[in-house]
This record gives sequence, structure tokens and C-alpha cells, in this order.
Amino acid sequence: MRYRFVIILSSALAVVSTSVGCYLYQQIDERFEIELAGDTARFHDAYIAQDEVLERRTSALAYSIAANDDIQRLLDEGSEAVRIEGHSTGGARAARARQALQETVKPLWDDLNTYFEVQQMQFILPNGISFLRMHAPRYFGDLMPAVRPMLADLSHDHEFRGGFEIGRAFASARGAVVVMRQMQNDRPRFVGALEIGLDMDSHLDKLDKQLGIGIALLLDRRRVNSIMWPSHRPALMNEHSFMLIATRPEANDWFKAGQLPMTEERVPQDSLLTWQDHHFHLIAFALEDYKSQLEPWNAPPGTVLIWHDITDKFNQVVVAHKKTIFGTLAVYIVAQLCVFGLLHIARRAWIRHLKQHTVDVENLLQRNALLLDTAADGICGVDRDGLITFINRSALTMHGYQSGEVIGKSPHDLFQHHRPDGRPNPLENCPFYQTLTDGESRECEEWLLRRDGSYFPAKMTVNPIFEHKQINGAVISFHDITDQRNRQEALLQLATTDSLTSASNRRHFMDQLDAELSRQRRHGGLASLLMTDLDFFKRVNDEYGHAAGDVVLSHFVHIARKTVRRSDVIGRLGGEEFAILLPGDGIPGARELAERLRQAFESNPAKIGNIIIPATVSIGISDLRTDDMTPDISLRRADLALYAAKAAGRNCIVVHEQNMLQNDVETKIKTEA
Ligand code: GH3
Ligand code: MG
Ligand code: MG
Repeated sequence: MRYRFVIILSSALAVVSTSVGCYLYQQIDERFEIELAGDTARFHDAYIAQDEVLERRTSALAYSIAANDDIQRLLDEGSEAVRIEGHSTGGARAARARQALQETVKPLWDDLNTYFEVQQMQFILPNGISFLRMHAPRYFGDLMPAVRPMLADLSHDHEFRGGFEIGRAFASARGAVVVMRQMQNDRPRFVGALEIGLDMDSHLDKLDKQLGIGIALLLDRRRVNSIMWPSHRPALMNEHSFMLIATRPEANDWFKAGQLPMTEERVPQDSLLTWQDHHFHLIAFALEDYKSQLEPWNAPPGTVLIWHDITDKFNQVVVAHKKTIFGTLAVYIVAQLCVFGLLHIARRAWIRHLKQHTVDVENLLQRNALLLDTAADGICGVDRDGLITFINRSALTMHGYQSGEVIGKSPHDLFQHHRPDGRPNPLENCPFYQTLTDGESRECEEWLLRRDGSYFPAKMTVNPIFEHKQINGAVISFHDITDQRNRQEALLQLATTDSLTSASNRRHFMDQLDAELSRQRRHGGLASLLMTDLDFFKRVNDEYGHAAGDVVLSHFVHIARKTVRRSDVIGRLGGEEFAILLPGDGIPGARELAERLRQAFESNPAKIGNIIIPATVSIGISDLRTDDMTPDISLRRADLALYAAKAAGRNCIVVHEQNMLQNDVETKIKTEA
């Protein structure tokens, strides 16, 4: 139970620690990602803002240049010369106009180059033909609108156009305006267009320095191939793209290694790039050109890549991760140790408590054992199988056994397997067995066997032991009731016998006689009754004293006992009158027995010292009859015979006859009534 608790608690700690650890770990990652997302948004916004600045600058510069009268005039002349001379390039006149325009613009171009980072300047004729490229003077006469949407749109509505575009010789941020020549007394005349392209390298370098980021522009290879002259294409390229600009040299290595992604997504995408033990946060988004900005369904021509070195931040995150892991582990270990410590303390307290409890239980057991052993009653416990589990000293003393000889054995096999009369006593009759069977308490008297084979009567109480509503055993308590039985028998003796002669007293004799009459009425058979009276007993008393008379009375009973059978009953009916019930004897047998008694009494007189006290007895005999309603009737018949014996001279025997002194009998009965 305790081990399961420890496992559950430890598992819970491990789960909580791991969860907290994972949460903190994720928090670090999330903070890092939020920081990177912030950087991404910031750098993207900065780039877009820079784009707008470039556009405004091209617009301002282009307008200011286009306002120059000389430029307007020379472009108008060039346009006129080309129109007259034909072809896209014109002839000598056109060449002179071009030369004049170039020389006029040259000082301005140098200043723009030097101070305004202008890298491209082109004059386009109203028919869309390139007239002069200040950045590439040898290239002219090609038709522009086909490859330059910005210039195509400009020729339609004469509004300023700006944005990134790939051209034949140059790819950059540009702005284009129409050149209108102010004629005297006439409306301004459309004489061509002027386009300014900025040096994006230097602008992006500034951004690089301002924000501490690397910036690179990749152009779609097919787009470049379809527009730019081969001689003017960027030097660095791979299967899919050209590297137009890279503000930091590592980008060239990444580009060569194919590490820089192209994307058409306008929303910035960021990723991590690891290069030579450094970690970079790489942001990529679509490089918008004039057309794709205006009409978003047009594919952007390339990709803007922005990156910054986050090695320190990355290492900080790694350190924070490690700290979190080790911190969590340390907290877990400390918590686990605390748990073990608390458990250890709890266990020690529990063991102390258990020891105390054990001592208490032992004391209680000792007290109980003492109580059991000092109890006068025998006490014995049996388990549910009826085998002895404990027994106290009194029980052992009563049975004559040692404790070791009875524990684990059945009380039936030890104490109750036979009855005192030798008959076997079945187990089912044993009270403890009955209680184990029916769960009832019972009280009874039983004969119990001692080890030496003798028996003693015991009063026994059996109580069941219940555990969880199931009979789990029984407790037998008992005590020896030999003395009680003896006292009862003595009382019975006192109540039923005459104290002087130990013959049955009158009441008991009458009960016996009544019982015999009942038995005879039920089962038939013979029985007789002798009525005896000592002759002239008054004289014995008078002559030898009353005590001697008592001796004679006892002596008579003694002689009678020796003469009759054990089953015959001798009763003292009063004074020196005795009656003897002879079950199973008819008159002849009774007569014979009476005669033997008479003779034996006469011939064996009582003696007190040397003094012989002669005495005789007269005996009346009657049979017992089933129609005798009460014992008195039988008794009076015998009495009548006795009366006749007295009348016949005493020391003789008379058997009752049917017609014998009926009147006398009746008279006697009446008199007594
Ligand atoms: P009989 O019967 O032969 O006619 O003469 P009896 O002298 O025996 O006459 P009765 O039966 O009338 O007298 C009985 C006498 O027995 C009277 C009494 O003194 C005496 N007696 C009665 N009970 C006891 C007794 O318990 N002890 C002694 N010693 N004498 C007793
Ligand atoms: Mg008498
Ligand atoms: Mg008498």
C-alpha cells in the first residue's frame, strides 16, 4: 500500500516537473519567436519605407531634370532628326543631337552620380525608342515599351511612373516622367520621356548600416534572361536566379551553396540559417516591381532577402533551455528527496506507533490470558473447522491435559467421543459442532471425558464468533458440576428417604407404587405388595429404650434389603410399619419372599453390644390390580391382610383374600376417613 503511494506520488511529481519544464521551455521558444517576428516586421517595414523614399527621390530628380529648357530642346531636336532620318536610331543629325544632349547633360549626370546616387538616366523618344542612355551611351535605338511597362504606361497618360523594374542594361528603382517642351505662344509639346534609376547598392548599404542587417536581391532567372542584354546581366547566378545585390559577402556564399530561397510571397517568411557556427535569422519576401505592385496578379520578378546574425540570441536561448532543463531537474530531485524524507519521517512515526500498538496489544493479550487463566470456568476456543485455538488453565486442569496436547485438536475427539455408559457420542450431538453449524448460542449439561478416562458432568455454554457476518469459530465455557449434582442427589435422597432407616419415605413409596400401577395398567404383568408391622413394638421400646427401638427399626430394613431384590422398593409408612413393593411378583412369589423375610428377621435379632433384642414381624400380602384406582386401595388390601396376620397371632403371613373381612376393611376405611 505504502509503496504504491510512493510510486503514485513520485510519478505525479515527475509529470508535474516535466509539464512545468516543457512549459518554461516553450515559453523561451515562444519569446524567441515573438522577438524574431518583431524583427521580421520591423525590417520588412524598413525596406518598404526605403522603397517609397527611393520612388519619391526619383520623381523629384526626374521632374527637376525634365524642366531643363536645353534638355527639352535637344530631345525635341533628336526626336525630329530620328523622325526625318528614319530607322530607330536616326542618322547623322540624330547623332549630333544625341551628342549635344549628352554633352549638355554630362555635368548634371556627374553631379547626380556623385551626390544623388543616380546610376541610370535614359531619354526616350515619343515613339518609345531609346534615344540616349547616359549610363550606356553606346546603346540606343531599341524600342522600350515592349519590355518596360512603366514607360508604356507613361506614354499613355504622361503621368509620373516609379518603382523597381528590370531593364535591358539595368535593374533598379526608377522613376520616369514625360519631357514637355515649352513653345513660345503655343501649348507645351510632348518631346519624349526621361527615366532616372538609382544606385540601390548604396541605398541598401545605408539600410544595412542603419539597422545592422544584410540585404540581398535575387531576380528570377527567366525574367532577367528575357529582358536584360547578356552583357549587362548580373555576374552571379544559379539555376533559378541572379544575385542582383548583396550588402554582405556571406550572401554570395549562401547563394552559391543554394541556401537562399526564392519566394513570391508578399508576406515576409522567416527561417533560421546556420553558417560557419553562426546562426542567422533570414527573412524573405517578394521583390515587387512596378507591374506587380500595380497589378498584384502579376508575378513579382524576384525576392528580397534580409538577414541578421542572431548567434548571441540563439546561444542565449540554448543556455536558457539548458537552465530550464537543469533547473526543472534540480527542483524535481529536491522535491523527490523531500517526498522521500517526509515518507521516511512518516515511516519512522508509523513504526513507533506500531511498536507502541504492539506493546499495547501484547499487554492486552497478557491481561486476557491472565483473565482466562484465572477464570474458574474452563474456556476453550475453536476455529471454524472445530479445532481448538486456545484453552485456559482451568479447562486443562479439569481435563488433565497440557496445552500442547490439545491445541489444534477437536474437542469432540478429546472430550466427548463417548458417553459415560460406553456408547459412542456422535459429532453431530456435540454443542460446539451444532453452534458452528447454526450460529446459535446454546447452554447445556454434558458429560466430559478426562485424560484418565473418567467423566465429569459439566454445565457448558457455547457462543459463536462472527467475523464479517460469517461464523468464524466458537467459544466454549464450562464448569464441573459434580458437587452440584451430588448436592442435588443428596437433596433428592433427603426428600425421598426416611432418615432413620434410609428406606423410602411414605410419599416417595406412594409415588413408586402409583408409578407401578400406571406401568401395570399400560403394559400388564404382575406386582405384589407386602405390608409389615413389627409385633409388640411398644414393648421393645419400653423394655430396651426408644433408641434400641430405632436400632431394631434400622435392623429390620437392613434384613429386608438383603432379602428383596434391588428393584424392589422398601418404604417406611410410619412408626414401625413398612411396605414392600415387589414388581414382577405374583402372590406365590410374594408369599415366599415374605416368609423368608419373616424368618430372617426372627432368626437374626438386632444386637446392641451384647444385648440381643428379639423381635418378630407380621406381614400382609396383596397383589396389585389394574382396576386399583389409587395406590391407597392396593395398600389397604395389604393392610387388611396384615390386620388378619395380627389377629392370627402375629409373626405370621396372611395373603389377602377377596371376601376377607370386607366389612372390617370398609369399617376401617370409614373410621380413617
Ligand atoms: P402390635 O403392633 O403387635 O399390635 O403391638 P405394638 O406394640 O407394636 O402396637 P402399636 O403398633 O400400636 O405400637 C407401635 C409403637 O411403636 C408405638 C410407638 O411407641 C412405637 N414407635 C413408633 N415409632 C417409633 C420410632 O420411631 N421409634 C421407636 N423406638 N418406637 C416407635
Ligand atoms: Mg404399628
Ligand atoms: Mg406393631
